[in-house]
Amino acid sequence: MEYRANTAILGAGISGLCTAYQLNQSNHDCLVLESSSEAGGALKSTQSNGYLAEHGPNSLLVKDQRVNQLLHATGLHPEQGTSAQTANAAAKKRYIVHNGKPHAMPSSPLGMFKTPLFSSKGKLRFALEPFIGRYRGLEQGLGEESFADFVRRRLGPDMLASAAGPFVSGIYAGDPENLSVRHAFPRLWNLEHHYGSFILGALALQFKLGPVGKNPNRLSPSSMISFRNGMQQLPSAIAQSLPPGHFETNCQLQNIQQHGSSDWELTWTDNNKQCQQGVFNNLVLAVPHHQLAKLPLPADLLKSLSPVSSLASPPVTSLVLGFKREDVRHPLDGFGMLIKQSEASPLLGVLFSSSMFDGRAPDQHVTLTCMMGGSLNPHFAENDDQVVLDELKRLLGVEGAPSFRHRTSWQHAIPQYSLDYQKVIDAIQTCENDYPGLHLAGNYRGGISVGDCMVNGLELGQTIVSK
Ligand SMILES: Cc1cc2nc3c(=O)[nH]c(=O)nc-3n(C[C@H](O)[C@H](O)[C@H](O)COP(=O)(O)OP(=O)(O)OC[C@H]3O[C@@H](n4cnc5c(N)ncnc54)[C@H](O)[C@@H]3O)c2cc1C
Repeated sequence: MEYRANTAILGAGISGLCTAYQLNQSNHDCLVLESSSEAGGALKSTQSNGYLAEHGPNSLLVKDQRVNQLLHATGLHPEQGTSAQTANAAAKKRYIVHNGKPHAMPSSPLGMFKTPLFSSKGKLRFALEPFIGRYRGLEQGLGEESFADFVRRRLGPDMLASAAGPFVSGIYAGDPENLSVRHAFPRLWNLEHHYGSFILGALALQFKLGPVGKNPNRLSPSSMISFRNGMQQLPSAIAQSLPPGHFETNCQLQNIQQHGSSDWELTWTDNNKQCQQGVFNNLVLAVPHHQLAKLPLPADLLKSLSPVSSLASPPVTSLVLGFKREDVRHPLDGFGMLIKQSEASPLLGVLFSSSMFDGRAPDQHVTLTCMMGGSLNPHFAENDDQVVLDELKRLLGVEGAPSFRHRTSWQHAIPQYSLDYQKVIDAIQTCENDYPGLHLAGNYRGGISVGDCMVNGLELGQTIVSK
């Protein structure tokens, strides 16, 4: 049988699914082809003996009206019954490990004054932020500014070492010296660019002052959520909302060709190993960037895509461990702990998963999600469980053997928006211009968070509909 639909989407991660969702909302015919056996990509959850382990993301930060609407439409909004969970109040507290001990990040000026995380000189240096001029290196041909240089320039070295550096490990598992602040943290960069200071910029936005209006889709306050059966419940619900026959799993693409300047002809084997063909006006590539080079695309297109497919993405391992509550000395009263680079820890950080959301561990037990690897220490992704247990003992006073363990190794965890990232954007634009109907979607463009991928997917759906 030959399929005919307006749009084919390769990859049913959250990016591809949100594109499909938006197309379907607009009665725009589409077919999603996924190579694995289920929807979700990085959003995968395992439940066993009362524990819930996330393989990838542990939460979704809802900060956009359109994401909110999707959650409502799929019955996954926290206001609708018990499927969604809002993070417990405790999750507001975050720890940073300094001199072998987790210290709470200050949340008030008095806390800032008292915290041992920053030196007295460092604290005084923060106060100068509104008086620091903006970066002019781009106009002067000096190139992108790294996140590390940006923080050092605006807030001083103490802030980089004690808070901003660990924060980058937590989000990108990245090297702050090699991430472009303009591309990896566009909100910070925009605040400096438009207001000269991100402290003044944040205040101006809050009070709706200054040159840049508030994003009309932005929700304030944002909320951190997950789901009773884990993060995978979200892509499963979106996939189920698509009409029957619009989402296929276990598909292996055999050939992709463009005929003339419009039709894309695809050949693939389906779930039953049968060969299928289809012709589509639009082709959305929503596979991970490192998989692009393996697609059976025309050779010229593969070559043009090489800056995208070769984008660095370090390995990260997520090890979820369950313990009896009495075996952990630390109160675990927070989101988790990030670790300063100077601590030379084998871990990037630890999420206190059962403190963030209910239902992550049986009664009187706790779940800790330990992340290791990343750009600075990629080989730590191979640390064995005992190395992690020793570190948990040192930092959180964890004794006794774990009653649960689940390990996921991501060879290409998070694409790094590094100092030469502009060439990735240029390559994407060239490909989309040169191949009409081709669209690239995924966490390698427009943000790596689940929320960003959702917004970008929804916007892409809207763009295709409006063409
Ligand atoms: C360990 C870890 C922790 C994270 N934590 C957080 C967090 O707490 N909060 C947060 O917001 N974000 C987090 N992220 C980031 C976020 O989860 C990802 O950026 C996002 O889920 C990526 O979605 P995607 O759809 O772009 O790609 P993917 O999820 O990778 O989906 C791509 C899909 O394409 C499919 N595919 C591959 N090849 C083919 C092919 N040839 N044909 C068809 N289909 C194919 C794959 O099977 C997959 O389903 C984390 C990521 C990781 C790895």
